[in-house]
Amino acid sequence: MGAMQCATCSSPLTSTGKTFRCACGGTWVPEAAFVEMVAVMREGRVIIPWQGRAGDERPCPECHARMTPCALRGVALDRCDPHGIWFDDAELQRVLELASKFEIDEGPQQSVFADPSLRKAVFGDSSSFNDREREGFLGALLRLLLK
Ligand SMILES: [Zn+2]
Ligand SMILES: [Zn+2]
Repeated sequence: MGAMQCATCSSPLTSTGKTFRCACGGTWVPEAAFVEMVAVMREGRVIIPWQGRAGDERPCPECHARMTPCALRGVALDRCDPHGIWFDDAELQRVLELASKFEIDEGPQQSVFADPSLRKAVFGDSSSFNDREREGFLGALLRLLLK
């Protein structure tokens, strides 16, 4: 696999650990990393309410196939099913804010923290966090994931 390219301006993307960023503000998030971000935020699995939308088909940063225009609660995104989701500048933050309203998935629960190091990085060694800590949680998560 060659260097990943921005879906907007074709510049090479820089890895920030779980996500890949462009200087233009675009962010590429592998599907599993996105599901994990939302699950960590909500302390459980939620149903991600994908919607279709019309729009130009932009190239996947990984495979360069045309991505499917889609939306989450009105935020216009693009996704390549095998690879991930493209967020333009500030869209990832908007979607994570909206994720507080996503429905909880009542199906069989898997571990919220598939990656124990992520939990430790966000919460330290404590096994729970209170409401006050929760307020700063989105910011902490974004700092961790977006650098
Ligand atoms: Zn770019
Ligand atoms: Zn792809």
